Amino acid sequence: QSSNETFPPELDANEQILVDSFDSTSISTWSYYYTHGAHVAGTNKSMAQWTADKWAEYGFTSRLDEYLVFLNYPVSHSLVLTYPNGSTYTPSLKEAVLAEDETTSYPNSIPTFHGYSFTGNASAEYVYVGRGQQVDYDRLTALGVDLKGKIALAKYGGPFRGLKVKNAQDRGMLGTVIFSDPGDDGNMTEAKGVAAYPDGYARNPTTVQRGSVQFLSTYPGDPTTPGYVSKPGAPRADHGVVTPQIPSLPISWIEAQPLLQALNGYGPSNTSVNRTGWTGAIPGVTYSAGSGSGAALSLSNVMNDTYATIWDAVGIINGTNQDEVVIVGNHRDAWIVGGAADPNSGSAVLIELAKAFAKLTETGWKPARTIVLCSWDAEEYGLVGSTEWMEEYIPWLKNAAVSYLNVDVAVSGPIPDISATPDMHAISKAVMKKIVYPYRNSTNLTMYDVWEQESGEVGVLGSGSDYTAFLHRGIASIDMGAGGGPNDPVYPYHSNYDSYHWMTKFGDPGFITHKSIGQYLTLLLYHMANDAVVPLEPSGYIPEFDTYLTDLNDTVSSSNYTIDLSPLTEAISNFTSSAQEFEALRSQALATNDAALLKVQNHKARDFSRGFTSQGGLPTREFYQHTIFAPGRDTGYAPVTFPGITESITFDKDGELAQEWVGKTADAILVAASILKT
Ligand code: GLU
Ligand code: CA
Ligand code: ZN
Ligand code: ZN
Repeated sequence: QSSNETFPPELDANEQILVDSFDSTSISTWSYYYTHGAHVAGTNKSMAQWTADKWAEYGFTSRLDEYLVFLNYPVSHSLVLTYPNGSTYTPSLKEAVLAEDETTSYPNSIPTFHGYSFTGNASAEYVYVGRGQQVDYDRLTALGVDLKGKIALAKYGGPFRGLKVKNAQDRGMLGTVIFSDPGDDGNMTEAKGVAAYPDGYARNPTTVQRGSVQFLSTYPGDPTTPGYVSKPGAPRADHGVVTPQIPSLPISWIEAQPLLQALNGYGPSNTSVNRTGWTGAIPGVTYSAGSGSGAALSLSNVMNDTYATIWDAVGIINGTNQDEVVIVGNHRDAWIVGGAADPNSGSAVLIELAKAFAKLTETGWKPARTIVLCSWDAEEYGLVGSTEWMEEYIPWLKNAAVSYLNVDVAVSGPIPDISATPDMHAISKAVMKKIVYPYRNSTNLTMYDVWEQESGEVGVLGSGSDYTAFLHRGIASIDMGAGGGPNDPVYPYHSNYDSYHWMTKFGDPGFITHKSIGQYLTLLLYHMANDAVVPLEPSGYIPEFDTYLTDLNDTVSSSNYTIDLSPLTEAISNFTSSAQEFEALRSQALATNDAALLKVQNHKARDFSRGFTSQGGLPTREFYQHTIFAPGRDTGYAPVTFPGITESITFDKDGELAQEWVGKTADAILVAASILKT
């Protein structure tokens, strides 16, 4: 695709119809609807039905797919700090109700809690553990801090929150309290003179980040049905493999402040611990580990553990080629009444997208490939709605899925951010060049211009949203959205302040960025579903393999293991020539108008990445099958490349296993190569 020299970008007639159909005012209407109702997984059926009905109104055949899954809901909780002199401090564990922000006072506001948290009590001294990665806990142990029998006080940020709890549990700790810290808020803090929400850009000090504490990097989805669909009557496994066995609570920075201050000057200092992300910016806090402080916490968490029905709304337009399917997904559940950014910026965009396709079908257009829209439930608990749906439809998806397009938080700020499998890099960039992207004070930039200036790199998919299940069955995937930088309003993630009011005042006044991201997703879907040539580029993997190999070489050489990587490098060069042959043949099919050959090539483009998966999964985690990328076992969100090899070294510290995974990874790459060839 050539880059545009003209502005606004030149579009063909269909693209123009789709783009022109987008209207910020109607996106605002959808956002208003979604941000004023019950969202929590298993309680949002009316919203699921509304979504399905909207899609039906726009010409999609729609339905609700139901699953019966393990969930838990908050009943009560409390936390008390007892100082060495016997006096106490009792945090409210509540976010402030704001007159300016109507949904913060809704009677059905959800308490601050952790999804899938354990019901129990813990009373003990407590230790500050930084961001709570394994290395943080290990560092404390090395410095002589006794963790067993203590409560962990961890900072948000870095690894997925459930791993902070898992790591505490694995060290014999009794509970975990996780706090937000203004040190992660860039320049927008009260300490730097910025007014807090609702008056200004800084975080309201009472903001609490809710969220799941499932052990996500073991497997996502319903905890009781690993690898198979969670329908009534399904056999149930022990959920305790992926849900904590110690209680946990989230807390605001203002209520964490006394807890941290009581540790000031006790145990190893922040500088002697010397760990990334350890020191935050809460006033008056030294971020000492706190062992020996004599201060203690008493924590109680009561949850109602239950099985509940969840609803995925599904909307379909059949294509001419029904063995080629493009899926677009966004979750609908949230922890709160609002959820204006997470997930309803994405949900609003999907309604507007359906409306745009209705406009296009009015002209008599019909997609070449089948389009499936999905509104997932229970993403927040652990990607449950999307994972169960994948597990139900895997035979069909394995055969027919061309790609999965995910939008979760479409907008929490102005800066576009894209992560994708390498075969989608080319199309993801080409479509960015077609989108007008009003940005700060500029009105003459495309999304590509802004993206190139702000990042210029398509990220690697890790986990943390609904693309995970699809990616790990070898389906080309992309995740997109726009977020804030260090000088943008602080995004009140998973708190009551992620509201319609916040979005209209700070996050995206006028729904300008919503419109651009929505147009982007719409044109991307249009091209995926309609181009004569399936716009997947297997050769996109070639330069990425190079980068991943460099990283792997670094990992190997800084370890004590001697590992022969030649099977991997040989497989990559085999893949390289296969991808080049594939593309030559595809160009030939196009040049000679050979429809039969083009169909064969399109199916190879659809299928080759299934080869990257390994049936038995990665070491210790069967669910995660992709051998090229996976969420890190101790990061949860952030990806690891060549995960079987890399984590055998960094995690299992097992050179033989690493060598075995060189072979398995190479074999997977050879399978992908052979699909391109035959
Ligand atoms: N996106 C949600 C979160 O980050 C859910 C992630 C998950 O459980 O996989 O909390
Ligand atoms: Ca399942
Ligand atoms: Zn989300
Ligand atoms: Zn979320």
